[in-house]
Amino acid sequence: MLNADEGEPATFKDREVMLRRPDRVIEGLAIAAELIGATDIYLYLRGEFEIPWKAMEDAIQGFGEGLAHLDFHLHAGHGAYICGEETALLEALEGRRGMPRLKPPYPTEAGLWQKPTLVHNVETVACVPAILQRGGDWFKGLGRTEPGSKLYCISGHVQQPGTYELPLGVTLDELVEVAGGYVGALKAFSPGGASSGFLPAADRGVPLDFKGLAERGSMLGSSGVVVLNTSVDMAWAAREQMRFFEDESCGQCAPCRIGTRYLREALDAHLNDRRAGALTHATEAAWEMVEGSICGLGQAAPLPLTSALEYFSEEFWR
Ligand code: SF4
Repeated sequence: MLNADEGEPATFKDREVMLRRPDRVIEGLAIAAELIGATDIYLYLRGEFEIPWKAMEDAIQGFGEGLAHLDFHLHAGHGAYICGEETALLEALEGRRGMPRLKPPYPTEAGLWQKPTLVHNVETVACVPAILQRGGDWFKGLGRTEPGSKLYCISGHVQQPGTYELPLGVTLDELVEVAGGYVGALKAFSPGGASSGFLPAADRGVPLDFKGLAERGSMLGSSGVVVLNTSVDMAWAAREQMRFFEDESCGQCAPCRIGTRYLREALDAHLNDRRAGALTHATEAAWEMVEGSICGLGQAAPLPLTSALEYFSEEFWR
């Protein structure tokens, strides 16, 4: 199963891979199917990905008889961010509303129609053929602080936004240098899409990898890096991301359904009329969401607000 429902804000690497090397993606899927003895391969693409869809179809055709023993099923998503979560994706494929399942069981035990299912994203699958050809040590050696290369998406206040393949563990400054440099002076950045919250400019030297960012209370996530310069009001930036999560919550569990709205309304009340105490319970609500939500959306949703409050509190209280 290919998860190509790329919906994390500021993330556009899977689309690039499918456009530029669809053959590698199909080859990786075929290798994975061979290894686990599967004959059906599902590709779940974001609905707007019409050109990547065509690229994938052409690539399947291009392999001709070599892949005739496999059945490829392409499916277009319908715009729900939550369907990028693998079990919500499986629910949608089975014809139900896309809502995450409780885990365990994981898809490898009970996935599509309760059958063991391997689900991976495009970047992962596209790496498989080269790793088999050149070996695991070669791939490991591409990384700096952790194994492998990484496709970083970068956008915001940089000269040349785009997708760049670099050693896993480069710093923000190194990534931005490849992207032509900063526009203005750096104030903050999100290292891994909206779900990773904000880090201050002082963290520009932190390795953009899984461990380094986790130690800073953030995450690499989708590696969709967003650069914000000093023109950005961080309370406004947090509010925009809170609104996104409120819109995209599937509503299945109360901490996320109620919490995303509560935090956005509290922030609005604070920003609109500086209502005294509007944000008093924001930290407790965030804790409830992290502890009580079923999936990563509800667990990550408070981070834009809590990280902005932590690093840029003066912008909320002036
Ligand atoms: S955390 Fe949010 S998005 Fe995830 S299952 Fe619960 S309500 Fe749905």
